Amino acid sequence: MGKVIRTKVKDLLKLTPGQEVLAKGWVRTKRGNKNVAFIALNDGSTINNIQVVADVAGFDEETLKRITTGACIAVRGDLVESLGGGQSVEIQARSIEIYGEADPNTYPLQKKGHTLEFLRTIAHLRPRTNTFGAVLRIRHAMAFAIHKYFNDKGFVYLHTPIITASDCEGAGEMFQVTTLDLNNPPRLENGGIDYAQDFFGRQTSLTVSGQLEGELGAMALGEIYTFGPTFRAENSNTPRHLAEFWMIEPEMAFYEIEDNMDLAEDFIKSLVRYALENCMDDLKFLNDMFDKELIARLESVVKTEFVRLTYTEGIRILENSGEKFEFPVGWGVDLQSEHERYLVEKHFGRPVIMTDYPKDIKAFYMKQNEDGKTVRGMDVLFPKIGEIIGGSERESSLEKLEARINELGMSHETLEWYLDTRRFGSAPHSGFGLGFERLLLFVTGMGNIRDVIPFPRTPKNAEF
Ligand code: ATP
Ligand code: MN
Repeated sequence: MGKVIRTKVKDLLKLTPGQEVLAKGWVRTKRGNKNVAFIALNDGSTINNIQVVADVAGFDEETLKRITTGACIAVRGDLVESLGGGQSVEIQARSIEIYGEADPNTYPLQKKGHTLEFLRTIAHLRPRTNTFGAVLRIRHAMAFAIHKYFNDKGFVYLHTPIITASDCEGAGEMFQVTTLDLNNPPRLENGGIDYAQDFFGRQTSLTVSGQLEGELGAMALGEIYTFGPTFRAENSNTPRHLAEFWMIEPEMAFYEIEDNMDLAEDFIKSLVRYALENCMDDLKFLNDMFDKELIARLESVVKTEFVRLTYTEGIRILENSGEKFEFPVGWGVDLQSEHERYLVEKHFGRPVIMTDYPKDIKAFYMKQNEDGKTVRGMDVLFPKIGEIIGGSERESSLEKLEARINELGMSHETLEWYLDTRRFGSAPHSGFGLGFERLLLFVTGMGNIRDVIPFPRTPKNAEF
């Protein structure tokens, strides 16, 4: 008998019956009677299981007893047409090797229907559930689709630093990186910490965005994107915020705000389309289990044109809505998720790209409008999520940028390298940041951002 190599379950289910096969995976369930045992086997390659049929007479009783939910086994046998409903082929087992048992008294994933909250406490095992298998396969497919999208368009994948000495947004939500002895740090005469003695000879943190370095790339390579981890020490315990998340940040020379909006809209639509074309088994599962409108919503987003409106128009709609918001609206306020969702879900019923925000609620680098009050920022707002993308056309004039930096009382010192892009060969350019997990919330229909990343980091939680 020739050597039989392992076939993944996904491929087994497409094979024609009548051949010898070898399958390896984890037991989802075992049932049966005195004569025959049915084992549902899953190896993570698909949401679907392969059914293994073992005639009790042909196996040692002890071996069959050790095959319980969660155990890992290798099955050799014949692929045959399945008589039972639900699957087209099954394996008639000839031999079964047990790689690892899973004690039924202690294996936590015995029964179906564990809550998502409980599964978070066993994040090391939850990839073995149907739900997290589906989410993690979709997460992979989306990461691949993102690289494919930009590669097809000729964008260069730029790796921006994770440890940084600049604070992109000027906000105090950064995690410090230090090798100083926190119990006894070196001190300056004035009592402050002497960062000159720290590892990098200055104060450093984990990045909150790769944008500033991304702009340097765009001013040389034309069109770049970053796709990497991002860290924010914001103490917001919401279903949409993580302390460690992944962000995609394209940055393009010669793009004005309209080009930026066109790219953002086309980008998201093409990712959703990719999911519909490549992840249907997993989407169907999530649609049936969690969100009956998921697939319909994805299909509709691919087809609809996003609304484009200015912040000022948006505020007017909210003020005239007659709706009672928890946070009152008025020109100048930063929109809350409830406002964004009102516009997207109730007023327009489709995604919205909002532009031209008051300069005081946006970052220093955004292009200033003629009115002296607003900047060319753009947020893409999505149903169920609110902000999924934040971006802008960047201020390309050195003079205006410096004036804004002074106005905000920011230090030039750590930004000199950034200002060089405006000193030498400055050009109109734009970019945006898409939160990868926010995209995944939309594509999977999951309600909590902790459930679309393998190991979530949130305030008071860095387990696993
Ligand atoms: P929000 O107002 O929702 O906190 P933000 O204005 O801080 O977002 P940006 O700084 O513009 O967001 O970041 C770009 C994108 O990164 C956002 O549109 C969002 O998709 C994502 N994002 C921002 N903060 C987080 C976070 N804490 N966890 C997950 N994704 C995030
Ligand atoms: Mn934020």
